[in-house]
Amino acid sequence: ATPTAIMVGTGLGAKRGVLFKNAMALEVSARIDVVVMDKTGTLTKGEPEVTDVIADGFAEAELLRIVAVVERESEHPLAEAIVRRAGDLDGARAERFENVPGHGAIAHVNGRRVVVGNRRLLEREGIDLGSLAARRDELAATGRTAVLAAVDGVAVGVFGIADALRETSVAAVEALHDLGVEVVMLTGDNQATAERIASRLGIDTVIAEVLPGDKAAKVAELQRSGLKVAMVGDGVNDAPALAQADLGIAIGAGTDVAIETADVVLMRSDPLDVPTALRIGRGTVRKMR
Ligand code: ADP
Ligand code: MG
Repeated sequence: ATPTAIMVGTGLGAKRGVLFKNAMALEVSARIDVVVMDKTGTLTKGEPEVTDVIADGFAEAELLRIVAVVERESEHPLAEAIVRRAGDLDGARAERFENVPGHGAIAHVNGRRVVVGNRRLLEREGIDLGSLAARRDELAATGRTAVLAAVDGVAVGVFGIADALRETSVAAVEALHDLGVEVVMLTGDNQATAERIASRLGIDTVIAEVLPGDKAAKVAELQRSGLKVAMVGDGVNDAPALAQADLGIAIGAGTDVAIETADVVLMRSDPLDVPTALRIGRGTVRKMR
């Protein structure tokens, strides 16, 4: 790599808020075959909102309250959405709170055991969804994330949670396809929800229901088939995958660990800057020859 080409590429990137951390990052950008994108906070805004509350055997407000008391102890964005929707929780407290990564949370509220999270968590707890299963499927089919709630071993509610797409996500996928790059969505969210969102974005490969610790292994799997892989993410969960990828790209609005781990940082948090980064890489390498 000629120092001049590297300097030009780095400068071009900086103008667009695409920060290449070193010369290697620029060179690798030119050779990417697959871009793996985290869903929440990367392709979506990461500002989930509760859109549906379905209660069974509980008044809606009562269900929201008891679940929000548990979720107040969690830092997950879905938990924050539920707490926001519930509003004032006054004195109620969660006891014996347990965070279950990639699943949800469990705690006691007023002596009752509350389980809140995904289907996998309720299965693990041996709780049958009963008639709520159909409601859950309906929500997932519309691209919403369904959060399930159970009290004392009985499923009592489903929350539908929506997270709007970033405005440029569709265009970013299209631009990557135009560059001849494959796009894969990687998420901890459930398969049906992820597939619905992917189809809206024009993404045809979805890897869903991935546990937080397994994202890096999924990237490694793609690399083993001989592909040069870029990973784009924003979360703490994404950091190991960003490190594993040939090129780690962090969303600027993301967490500090993601930004520290990445080779490239998108200061504007704009997915369209992913194809921009790859184009700058290609331009730089062309000048090197
Ligand atoms: P992602 O951010 O990609 O959704 P996570 O591993 O953080 O991945 O979460 C995976 C899934 O686990 C979520 O989609 C949700 O269904 C469930 N989950 C995790 N934490 C919570 C929580 N505190 N409340 C409700 N659901 C949760
Ligand atoms: Mg994310």
